[in-house]
Amino acid sequence: MPGFEFFGDEERREVNDVLQTGILMRYGFDGPRKGIWKSVELEKEICKTFGSKYAQLTSSGTSALTTAMAALGIGAGDEIIMPAFTFVASFEAVLSVGAIPVLVEVDETLTLNPQAVLNAITRKTKCVMPVHMCGSMADLDALKNICDEHNLILLEDACQSIGATYKGKHVGTIGAAGTFSFDYVKTITCAEGGVVMTNSEDVYIKCDGYTDHGHDHKGVDRGADLHPFIGYNFRISELHAAVGLAQIRKLDKFLAIQKKNHTYLKNVLAEIPEVSFRQIPDPSGDSCTFLCWFLPTAEITKAFVDEMKAQGILAGNFHYIDNNWHYIRNWHHLKNGGSLYPLSDAQKEALAKLKSQAFPVSDDLMSRCICTAINLSWTDEQLKEKGEKMIAAIKKALQQSSVAV
Ligand SMILES: *Cc1c(COP(=O)(O)O)cnc(C)c1O
Repeated sequence: MPGFEFFGDEERREVNDVLQTGILMRYGFDGPRKGIWKSVELEKEICKTFGSKYAQLTSSGTSALTTAMAALGIGAGDEIIMPAFTFVASFEAVLSVGAIPVLVEVDETLTLNPQAVLNAITRKTKCVMPVHMCGSMADLDALKNICDEHNLILLEDACQSIGATYKGKHVGTIGAAGTFSFDYVKTITCAEGGVVMTNSEDVYIKCDGYTDHGHDHKGVDRGADLHPFIGYNFRISELHAAVGLAQIRKLDKFLAIQKKNHTYLKNVLAEIPEVSFRQIPDPSGDSCTFLCWFLPTAEITKAFVDEMKAQGILAGNFHYIDNNWHYIRNWHHLKNGGSLYPLSDAQKEALAKLKSQAFPVSDDLMSRCICTAINLSWTDEQLKEKGEKMIAAIKKALQQSSVAV
C-alpha cells in the first residue's frame, strides 16, 4: 500500500539535487537554484500521469482540500455533503473554510450513497464531496448527475485512491477539482504533501495564489507580486517535492504489485461462501491498495478480529466501526463541537445535530467490514501465509457462531 515501503536511491538522488543548491523553497531564487525546480516538475508529472490539465501542490492533503474549497468559492454557511466514513481531514477542511459538513450514509461501495445525497440536499447545499475510500471509487456518474441537476459543485477527496480510475479517467480529475494526499502512508509519499487537480484555469490560478499568501506570481520577483485576494501558506517544499518526484515514477510498479497481491488474496477469501466483497463501481479501475470485505454479522466479524488479535496478526486488517479517525461513531470531538476557537452558529447547530443523527446502514456495513491493507513488500510466501491465517480465523469465527446458535 504505502510508497514508503519502496524508498531508495531514486528518492535520495532527487533530494540531493535540492541539497546541492540549498534552495529549499519552491518559488524565487531563480539564479542560485541552477535550474532545479522539483515542485514544478512534480506538478507537470502529476498532470501527465493522471490526465489533469492543472495541478497545484500543497503542504498536505488536508490543505489541498481547504485550498480546493476556497478556490471553488465554498465558505460561510455553505453545506457540503460528505460521507460518514472518511478520514477526519475531510470535515476539518470543511470547517476551516467556514462551511458546514453534512454527513450521510455510505453504501456497499463504502463511499457516498447517491440516494442519501439526494435526500440531504437543502437550499444551502453548495457541494457534494465523495471520498474515494480505501483505493476504490464512488459512483461518480450518479453523483455527477445529481450535481448537474441541482447545480452543485463536485469535489473529489481522492486522497486514498491515487491511481484509481473510473471509466477510463483518474479519480480526482472528474469533478470540478480533486485532491490527493502524499502523506507518509499514502500510495505515493512526499513525507507530507498534497495536490489539487483541476481542469479549470480559473480554479488553478486561485489555488496557486491561495497556497502562497495570495501572491499572483506575475511579478519579476516576489516583492513585485500583487495580491488580488487573501491567501495562506500551504506551500510544499522542494525537499518534499523531490521525494514525490521519485515516487510518482514508481507508481505503475506500485499499482501492478498491489493488483497482483489483491487478486491473490481476494481469490483466497472468495473460497468462503460467507465472505462477500465491497462493490466497486468500476472494478477495472480499483487501485487495490485495500481489499475490503464483509462477514455475515457484526458478531462473527468481532470474533474474527478477536481471534486475529489473540494470535497477534491483526495488523493491516482494519475494522473501522469503532475507529476514531475514520468513522462518525467515535468522532466525539466533532459531535461535541470541540473547537479551540468559536465556530459559527450554523456550524455549531449542524454539529450538535450529528449527536442524534443515526447511520443504521453505515453502522451495519462498518460493523461487518474488514479492510485488509495490501502491502508492496510481501513475498509470495508471506502472502500465502497471510491468506491461510485469515482463512483459519474466519472459519473459527464462523464455527463459534454456529455453535452459539
Ligand atoms: C490522508 C487523507 C487526507 C489528507 O491527509 P493529509 O494527512 O493531510 O495529507 C484527506 N482525506 C482522506 C480520505 C485521507 O485518507
